[in-house]
Amino acid sequence: MGELNTFPVSYKVQGQRIVIVGGGEEALNKARLVTKTTALVVIISQNIEADFSELPVTVLARPFEDADLVDAALVFVADHGPDGEAAKRAARSRRIPLNVVDVPDECDFYTPSIIDRAPVTIAVATEGDAPVLARLIRARIEAALSPNLGALAKLAGSMRDRVAALLPGPRARRYYEELVTSPEVEVALLRGQGDMKAESLLAQHGAEGDSPGVVWLIGAGPGAEDLLTLRAQRLLQEADVIVHDHLVPAAAVEMGRRDAERILVGKQKGHHSFTQAEINALIVRLGKAGKRVARLKGGDPMVFGRAGEEIDALKAAGIAYHIVPGVTSALAAAADTATPVTLRKISTGFVLATAHGAESEELKHWAALASTGLTLALYMGKSVAGPTAERLIAEGASAGIPVGVVVRAGRKDRVLYRGTLGTLASGTIELEDGPAIIFVGEAIAHGDWSDAIELASSAFKVA
Ligand code: SAH
Repeated sequence: MGELNTFPVSYKVQGQRIVIVGGGEEALNKARLVTKTTALVVIISQNIEADFSELPVTVLARPFEDADLVDAALVFVADHGPDGEAAKRAARSRRIPLNVVDVPDECDFYTPSIIDRAPVTIAVATEGDAPVLARLIRARIEAALSPNLGALAKLAGSMRDRVAALLPGPRARRYYEELVTSPEVEVALLRGQGDMKAESLLAQHGAEGDSPGVVWLIGAGPGAEDLLTLRAQRLLQEADVIVHDHLVPAAAVEMGRRDAERILVGKQKGHHSFTQAEINALIVRLGKAGKRVARLKGGDPMVFGRAGEEIDALKAAGIAYHIVPGVTSALAAAADTATPVTLRKISTGFVLATAHGAESEELKHWAALASTGLTLALYMGKSVAGPTAERLIAEGASAGIPVGVVVRAGRKDRVLYRGTLGTLASGTIELEDGPAIIFVGEAIAHGDWSDAIELASSAFKVA
């Protein structure tokens, strides 16, 4: 014997009436829910207090009458007076399923929390005292499903006969799976070209026998799993293989399907387990083998992520690819410290630059950076923080310009430092381990750096 006291069903209401007795907020909430259906919804109350004007309902501002339940499929009672009592009696004598709002003992049925992707509905039903939980679950599922899933399901349905004639069972399944999950199909659908795309995909599957591979270059954000985008999360769950860097949070990698293959390609400062050429070759090989590959990178893939080289390799091999942006670490650092990187009258722009090569002649941008007056976010600069500051000063920047350093931005264990170009150049503080962003510019002084370790303070000098 199971544990459920209720059984979830999909109840037919087409062409019938759903009657709601009551005119307040509770009635309005139920009306919102049931107007997702094609039923004729009737509101009956002597006290219409809520605003039903936005909903496709018939409002009868009068007492309830027994005959109101003729042809009714469902009855909701959200009226605590005599009209409500009359409606309950009438529903019971006519054996019409009854829901008395917020009185579980008097209900024949409960309403689930609904995720509407018509023609697909997902209903989260709870028994007893778990409505909060149902709402939470609903929010999670909403976030995980494309808003266009219903339209995609319709498109898949419209292809049924053609697919049955062309593809054997398992290949048909792969086709449908790709049809309802592929971002290209979704984009085509939104442009009114869904049918065309569905046909061309079918031709492809028919010809190749296997679905073509695709590589998604996905930004995983700075390290907190909830700074991943909803799209990144969705694609991670669709990927056959996840190819990730060291800087990608484990929780993000964990979001993949349980049976997805996971490949760590290193890229930790100092020890490169894979060269860039090897990574390019790997994603090309996986794409050619028909895999859906999530190439997961820290921050944003287009910012110091060597995405350019990977895209070139994919293009050359004719493999489809898409970019999913992520929160780049400089913006996470700005959020951590409430620093407005652009600020009226103070900073009219924001520059993302690498600090690598501060000690050599290799980088040509130092003179330009020193004179911009814009907010600078310097990546890959922690091990050369002192020389970077010296270089900027040597190129003409004032030693008094505010500096802020965020180590492990976007994570719970971040560490902040603040000072000036001058104090950073003096280089007496050992910065903590981990990736860091170095901010330079007048706007830094307008952030909240109250938790920061003072670069100038002799107490911290380790000399
Ligand atoms: N694509 C990444 C950058 C990769 S380059 C992005 O958009 O953020 C690696 C550099 O990024 C590191 O040297 C460091 O400067 C910076 N970085 C990455 N993650 C970081 C984090 N959580 N906090 C601070 N800096 C970070």
